[in-house]
Amino acid sequence: MFTIHQTIDGQPRACTYTERDTIRLLRTGHRRGVEIDPRAAGGAVLRWTPPSLMFHRTPREIRIEAQIPVRMSTALQANLDRIHDGARADLLDLSDSAKARLYAAGLIIIDSTQTIRVTLAARLALTACAHRTHTRAPRGYHHPADHRYAIDSVGLNKPGGRAGKIHDRTSHASCTCGALDYFADDRSTAARAARRHRAQAAAALVEAL
Ligand SMILES: [Zn+2]
Repeated sequence: MFTIHQTIDGQPRACTYTERDTIRLLRTGHRRGVEIDPRAAGGAVLRWTPPSLMFHRTPREIRIEAQIPVRMSTALQANLDRIHDGARADLLDLSDSAKARLYAAGLIIIDSTQTIRVTLAARLALTACAHRTHTRAPRGYHHPADHRYAIDSVGLNKPGGRAGKIHDRTSHASCTCGALDYFADDRSTAARAARRHRAQAAAALVEAL
């Protein structure tokens, strides 16, 4: 089960969704081009900016939280990686206690025919864990000699603390998956690239649900 948080007419609202309803919400969001940001606790944040005739367009957000927050550990993840949807629990090369721990953590469900299903919370958490993005803080004012790309620069010719220094606002976005390696003019552009990358991973997940 999931709790859905959103603000309607300025008032915060929360309601409970089943997994099936939450998948439907994610699919609808994906179809409408909403940015989906998966979270390690097994939820997601949906962000979009509705069209408006007003000059200022207000961004909107829906937060999806797993009611049993996922606390992924290396051991749980390793066991989860050995499972695929539709596998038979009784045929799996995994101890009963390992399966019980995955079930207790809200990561799998085993039905009466011993068929395993990986939960939505587990899938969102795995996606978030696989794509931990990072943006590098700009260097700001620094001596050009510290800058390996600007060795010819003599820096600013100004008195005070910035004398002889150059200013660097550039940032870099990367991801633990290794697929994101983006140099940006500033940190907010790098952060947007990181969010776009996580949203692409989430979109691929939603398409596969
Ligand atoms: Zn990634």
